[in-house]
Amino acid sequence: MFNFELTDEQRQMLDTVSRVRKDVIEPNATRWLDGTFPHDNMKSLAEIGILGMTVPEEYGGMGANVFDTMLVLEEIAKGCYVTSMAVLGEVGTQTRIIATFAPKPLKDKWLPAIADGKAILAICMTEPDVGSDLGRMRTNAEVKGGKVILNGAKTLISRAEEADLFIIFTRVNGVDGSKGIGCVLVEKDTPGLSADACYHTIGGEKLADLRFDNVEVPLENLVLKEGAIRKLMSAFNTQRCLNPSICLGMAEASLEASVRYMRERNAHGHPIGDFQGLRWKVSDMYIQIEAGRGLLYRAAASADPFPDPTLAAMAKTFVNEMSIKVCSEGVQIHGGYGFINDFAVARNYAGVRYGSLGGGTTELLRNMVGKTLVERMDLTTGVAGMGYF
Ligand SMILES: Cc1cc2nc3c(=O)[nH]c(=O)nc-3n(C[C@H](O)[C@H](O)[C@H](O)COP(=O)(O)OP(=O)(O)OC[C@H]3O[C@@H](n4cnc5c(N)ncnc54)[C@H](O)[C@@H]3O)c2cc1C
Repeated sequence: MFNFELTDEQRQMLDTVSRVRKDVIEPNATRWLDGTFPHDNMKSLAEIGILGMTVPEEYGGMGANVFDTMLVLEEIAKGCYVTSMAVLGEVGTQTRIIATFAPKPLKDKWLPAIADGKAILAICMTEPDVGSDLGRMRTNAEVKGGKVILNGAKTLISRAEEADLFIIFTRVNGVDGSKGIGCVLVEKDTPGLSADACYHTIGGEKLADLRFDNVEVPLENLVLKEGAIRKLMSAFNTQRCLNPSICLGMAEASLEASVRYMRERNAHGHPIGDFQGLRWKVSDMYIQIEAGRGLLYRAAASADPFPDPTLAAMAKTFVNEMSIKVCSEGVQIHGGYGFINDFAVARNYAGVRYGSLGGGTTELLRNMVGKTLVERMDLTTGVAGMGYF
């Protein structure tokens, strides 16, 4: 019933990405740990069309669905966490919002540039006092005299120093609560917009504080007015399959590195792969990875165009937490070397910690799944009545 056999086209696409991963991305993975943006890798991926893979075909992209995007991110993350996060910025929610909700002149301006790898995008939701509970955000866009005036602040924003376009979740016209939230696009160098990349994550990348002081943009840049939170969150569900695909890729890479190390490393006169204690570790890592893959692929396959929210929440929660455990075991199997950044297992251990924090924390997602069960499950049919089977 659920067949995840890849098509010839998917295999070809993954072979191409895998070549770039092995030749370009993986050998340079330590270069980006000081916060440097991986422009070289982005250029190589743009050349094979990956940065525009979710841009609709009529705008020069591939029009890829969530499933194919997930496969590609998983493959890139096997080589480098920082690069996979940079790519996520191009193929994830940001592009989906522009392609689905922006007026035609903005699509004409931005989608071909994204497809060519010439526009870096930042998504701006989190505020200094507001993360998970977006309904309390304070940034406000006021519509005045045919213009939009934006005031407020955001924090922990990825790619802010490189971004050409900021996709900003904002309150509109001061309307209270979740129902007041819409989305506005602001180009870099717009007067009143400032970014300070003052945070350096344990995964390697830099995150920024943003300020909007009377930032003025044309009315058409208000791509979603107040009352759009449902539309925004349905587009954001895409992230709930793409974020865990990065975690899955890192977990796989840590397993592969561990198996290789167990064959090569000797202790007490044996390859360490002879020890049953370590065989059980890699066995559990593999079991967990394949369980996570099943759930994630199923959630991604539900996308039409956006994934089922409950399946995506379940998949993200499981894969985020599974990959933290798997990557931690990868460190353990490598002994002291596992704690050194030159080893992929160490970089994955740090990078994978991002998964359960961004794109909806695992606590928030459990709340969502629990709400679905308590409020929607038909007890005459049970789980089958949820409609997933
Ligand atoms: C590497 C990285 C990149 C990021 N990039 C971006 C970006 O580009 N753009 C952007 O907007 N943001 C970005 N973020 C921020 C991220 O989206 C937020 O950190 C996340 O949404 C959580 O918000 P918070 O940090 O304010 O945590 P809080 O909302 O303050 O939560 C703190 C803790 O309380 C828990 N909690 C909160 N509410 C509940 C509840 N109802 N029930 C149970 N537990 C609860 C949370 O799960 C968490 O454990 C990034 C973060 C990281 C680490």
